[in-house]
Amino acid sequence: MASENPSVPVRPGSALLIRELLHRVRTWAPDRTITYRDRLVLTYRDWLARVDRLGGWLKELGVGPGDRVGVLDYDSHRYLELFFAVPMSGAGLHTVNVRLTPDQAGFTIAHARDSVLFVHVDFLPMLAAMKEHLRGVRHVVVLADGPWTAPEGLACAGEYEAGLAGATPMAEWPEFSEDTLATLFYTTGTTGEPKGVSFSHRQIVLHTLTAGLTLAVHDDPVGFRADDVYLPLTPMFHVHAWGLPYLATMLGSTQVYPGKYEPQMLLQLLSKHRVTFSHCVPTLLQMLIHHPASATVDWTQLKIVIGGAALLPALAREAMAKGIRIVGGYGMSETCPIVAIAHIQPSDVERSESDRVGILSRTGFALPLVQTAILDGEGRQVPPGTVGELGLRCPWLTPGYLGDTAGSERLWQGGWLHTGDGAYVDSDGYLRITDRLKDVIKIGGEWISSIEIESALARHPAVREVAVIGVPDPRWDEHPRAEVVLRDGMGEVTARELSRHLHAVIETGVIHKRAVLTEIVLVSSIPKTSVGKIDKKRMRAALQ
Ligand code: AMP
Repeated sequence: MASENPSVPVRPGSALLIRELLHRVRTWAPDRTITYRDRLVLTYRDWLARVDRLGGWLKELGVGPGDRVGVLDYDSHRYLELFFAVPMSGAGLHTVNVRLTPDQAGFTIAHARDSVLFVHVDFLPMLAAMKEHLRGVRHVVVLADGPWTAPEGLACAGEYEAGLAGATPMAEWPEFSEDTLATLFYTTGTTGEPKGVSFSHRQIVLHTLTAGLTLAVHDDPVGFRADDVYLPLTPMFHVHAWGLPYLATMLGSTQVYPGKYEPQMLLQLLSKHRVTFSHCVPTLLQMLIHHPASATVDWTQLKIVIGGAALLPALAREAMAKGIRIVGGYGMSETCPIVAIAHIQPSDVERSESDRVGILSRTGFALPLVQTAILDGEGRQVPPGTVGELGLRCPWLTPGYLGDTAGSERLWQGGWLHTGDGAYVDSDGYLRITDRLKDVIKIGGEWISSIEIESALARHPAVREVAVIGVPDPRWDEHPRAEVVLRDGMGEVTARELSRHLHAVIETGVIHKRAVLTEIVLVSSIPKTSVGKIDKKRMRAALQ
């Protein structure tokens, strides 16, 4: 790799490549462990040797710079091996969303031009149902925890463990530019086909270092240290499990990968391994702490970052009552994803517990290197305290959507990445997301945040889950409609009672008075997206 400035030669090891994240752990924590479910424990020494073997095998399969490798697996030690070995080979790692329909997932595989697929046996039927999209696939490798069969009609390169055992370890990983594409995946928008976002080696490394630094220097209420025991509760296909497996591996932390997300197994692993650090969307934490087996877990050791949707104060309070240290974070698929975390400001350390709950569920402060701007409809910055669209700049934002020039230009219009989220900076300097712009409810010419109404309703002790959407209203343009799932044993609570509670909150002046127009409907469940978040698109569609 030549330097553009001949007087500054590029020295070996100076590029920000993912492989550089692995040097320290080879000597610092080689005996720490990486566990897969209740099935397998590897030391870092063994795991690193497997990464080298996987690199050798990828080379034998013809994978090199410019290729794309798709993975369809649950969160596993194997996935972590692929997180490193594929980009280190110079190829792009496509983390396929296994919760899409076969047709959508097949579309992403064809669009990404994946030539090799690593597929868990559970997803072979899904693969069979997307065959017309797989014409560019040269090899399928099967990932199995037990017996397996080769997929029909596709070139099968064998089973993962057998392939690794027979491979010659990579002696020297290839050199390439730090701007080489390292990872890609697809985000499902409100309309049209899934959109591909990608990140380079340089971006992944800078995201890892900055997220790690922020979580290392700020401990109140949640930090991440090398001595933590890490278990991801965000699927590895979704924005690389927020990039935190790269951080945990760089630090040599003890890691536990849970495989298929089954509540009983997750709780068992949290307990058995005394997991101290995790991250997930609010709905997943809610599901875990309400599970009947949750009483068996000592929650006081757990620190958790909640993101992907607003952390409502009610959930923060409930988690804190169990002894969990919890904090809200903000990001999106296009942002790698972490750009802000709600750490406590020095001036707020002495605040009361209820003030702290309010602070932790804010969006927080941008990470070092992240610039934020609140923009009006013309792309101009608005005065502090005013709501506008959040624009971002930082080294680890996706350069655009793969193969979509018009969409990329819209995303980056005016030189800011447009998040599509309404936000403002409050008088204490905290960044606050008010709502997705498309979820804001327009009532008689005024805009009301759905999150505000959700937070107010979630304060009622009988409310387990709540989601608010705007529905057409002949008089007011729109009115809010809240769908509420009650906690077990709270079946006698009525919508009328919840409405009285909402009115009482409105009277305190903390939320917009037009929230009185909220229609409250009790439901048995609320639809979720492929990554477990509340799916307002489906809620709206169900009413049409
Ligand atoms: P995704 O691309 O699926 O990860 O979704 C990203 C979106 O989730 C953002 O654009 C926000 O609308 C929402 N989101 C993520 N974090 C937060 C947060 N802390 N508060 C409110 N909304 C959030």
